[in-house]
Amino acid sequence: MSIDTIIGLIALVALFAAEGFLPAYAGRERRLRHGADNLVLAATSAAVGAVAAPLLVLSVEYAASHKLGLCPALELGWPACAALTFVLFDLWMYAWHRANHRVPFLWRFHRVHHTDPAMDSTTALRFHPGEILMSTLANCLVLVALGMSLGMLVLYKSLMVLVILFHHSNLAVPASLDARLRRIIVPPSMHRVHHSAIRAETDSNYGTVFSFWDRLFGSFRLRSDPELIRFGIGAYDDATWQKPLRLLRLPLEPNPSRGKSTLSPAAEAKP
Ligand SMILES: [Zn+2]
Ligand SMILES: [Zn+2]
Repeated sequence: MSIDTIIGLIALVALFAAEGFLPAYAGRERRLRHGADNLVLAATSAAVGAVAAPLLVLSVEYAASHKLGLCPALELGWPACAALTFVLFDLWMYAWHRANHRVPFLWRFHRVHHTDPAMDSTTALRFHPGEILMSTLANCLVLVALGMSLGMLVLYKSLMVLVILFHHSNLAVPASLDARLRRIIVPPSMHRVHHSAIRAETDSNYGTVFSFWDRLFGSFRLRSDPELIRFGIGAYDDATWQKPLRLLRLPLEPNPSRGKSTLSPAAEAKP
């Protein structure tokens, strides 16, 4: 088991327990059933990810042995190379996530993540294995292009799993702490808007670790009334679509109209 998986499992157990005591959205029923369904789907994705993982290692080794990628091209020392590849890999994650919302074929898979009407820490792991496979293959090309080391990839994935578990969690985070964290990383206040059923909000806040990409590329959104956010996409959100076997089949279903990507200024708050 990789170090980022171990870190993720420990953080998941801690956050899931904390959500029971300090929930942001109270009155959640059947938390265990909901979490179990998400984790069964996550297990299928993890299995596909584990089978595809050697491709990531081969890509890193191929780039290193042939001196390919940005780091050798710029003749950077390891500290500069490590910092640059970490930040640029997160930029790639932003771009990939945005493409998943814009390209209808990719959205068929990514919407599995968005059809959860009761977002919590287990939603962070709710991905269709097809999306995991496609992102792993795309990541191989990016690793070669960057000349990123295996150590930095593991470090990125370890930090990433902590941040995504946190920003999906149903934990009541004090607004002042959330605002401080928001200067650097994506906190719950941002990602809850991303899981809103309103399309203009779903199509915002694509960041994974760092929050500044959304500010830089004009996709930053906040709600002044986060307690009123309704999670989901407005289709396939009902109970019949929450079972793992149905979610695995969801990419085969039509893409219904998602409404206009416009947002009332009244629903936004300042960063
Ligand atoms: Zn998304
Ligand atoms: Zn999410």
